[in-house]
Amino acid sequence: MKQRVERTASAPPVTDGDEIIEIRGLKKHFQSSTGLVDQLFGESTVVRAVDGVDLTIRNGETIAVVGESGCGKSTLAKTLLKLHEPTAGSITYRGTDLADLSQSEMRPFRREMQMILQDPLGSLNPSKTVGEIVTAPLEVHGIGSDSTDRRTRAVELLERVGLGADHFNRSPRQLSGGQQQRVGIARALAVEPEFLVADEPTSALDVSVQAKVLNLLDELTDEHGSAMLFIAHDLSTVRHIADRVAVMYLGEIVECAPVDELFDAPKHPYTKALLSAVPRINPTDRTERIRLDGTVPSPMDPPNGCRFHTRCHELVPPPEWTGTQEQFRRVFTFRTSVLSERIDVESLRTRASQHGEDVSTEETARLLLEEVYPGDPHDLPAETYEVVWSVSLALVENNEHDAKKMVRERFQTPCERNQPEHHYPTRDHLVRCHKHDGN
Ligand code: SF4
Repeated sequence: MKQRVERTASAPPVTDGDEIIEIRGLKKHFQSSTGLVDQLFGESTVVRAVDGVDLTIRNGETIAVVGESGCGKSTLAKTLLKLHEPTAGSITYRGTDLADLSQSEMRPFRREMQMILQDPLGSLNPSKTVGEIVTAPLEVHGIGSDSTDRRTRAVELLERVGLGADHFNRSPRQLSGGQQQRVGIARALAVEPEFLVADEPTSALDVSVQAKVLNLLDELTDEHGSAMLFIAHDLSTVRHIADRVAVMYLGEIVECAPVDELFDAPKHPYTKALLSAVPRINPTDRTERIRLDGTVPSPMDPPNGCRFHTRCHELVPPPEWTGTQEQFRRVFTFRTSVLSERIDVESLRTRASQHGEDVSTEETARLLLEEVYPGDPHDLPAETYEVVWSVSLALVENNEHDAKKMVRERFQTPCERNQPEHHYPTRDHLVRCHKHDGN
């Protein structure tokens, strides 16, 4: 049984009546058995692949969803098309909530909602010819007066995507990757859908054909007036195809804005990090690359508060903090190392002993700080340095409990306690970050 829709604390702005799809509080959780013991005892963990997404897609617009692998963007696309059953939330398509519809009730909507998959060959049935693949949706949806008419339409479509009648009787295996993806596009557009999902449609293609396939998709969606949800793992491919961009992190949308606004004035630290990796043609546009700590945490156990806080370079210090933001970020990285229990004190002690005969606790603690603290701890405000030093001594004295207690109590950020609300710096620009609280 599906849960009820959970409304977010600050609702999105009033929509303008031009929406084709509205998603509210959409969740898709999977049960996952993590090992043999779990399977034997029937225990499982919940994977929160999509965890409360609000998104509006307007007539004829292209909205790109970007984020690192595993952030939930493909699951979002499949849930939106009801290829996965939602765990909670609503998907309103032209006034009808699709979330509760059965697969047979979905049938009339399938024609209007098509998908282009990432792996072109994997998505084409190798036992069928190109012609059979493109005419199949026409038959299923009763388009065309007879098989001759459907063949004519299919050939026209193949020509439109840069193939032709001579490809009609070929097997998809005889085509290049770019040609296979063109067949996938022709198949999706055969029924003239109102809404198209393209899931990383160029990621399996050579760089030389990626731009051609993207331009083709752009042209054809414009021609048909179709709206498109375009999934991409980075921002470099989306600037020229998208009208708006939604940035996803660990199952949530953290920023969404018109494409130029997002590229020119990103608000969320994660968006800034993704953008810093996009190559710029103009050298004066180049910004320093922001390297994020670690990898995306597991969606089975997402961090509390802001899910990005374990990697964020703009972490908000507590009100009583007297140092700089950068110093706080370093101290927080130190805290993360202490809590991770990955500091090997014994090997540090062995290494310290190679420096001289007497290896005092202080000497080992100094080496620990050199190894684990990112930067020079002597730059810190005096009282903070005292804490960092005490933590280091406690670790060397095998008093891990006290070391953890100190870093937990003394180096707290509001980002780990409270989930950021939805903020709208402009009507069409959503950002979820505590730095924008009160704006
Ligand atoms: S809420 Fe805090 S941790 Fe999250 S993105 Fe904003 S500054 Fe970073």
